[in-house]
Amino acid sequence: MAEFENPYAEYDPFVRAHFDCLECGGKLWEYAIQEQMFCEDCRATFPTGQIHETFVESEAA
Ligand SMILES: [Zn+2]
Repeated sequence: MAEFENPYAEYDPFVRAHFDCLECGGKLWEYAIQEQMFCEDCRATFPTGQIHETFVESEAA
């Protein structure tokens, strides 16, 4: 029997992000495999890069 390793089994693809939703301020979850974040409240999705840019720039200001 061939061994089959499911890459999704070892890593939880969902990580609670340290960012708030840009739409409603809800908690964002990072979906690392697709490099997206989504909001648990309004289910809006954002590219991870966009979220990082938004919050890094606001912290630096
Ligand atoms: Zn939201």
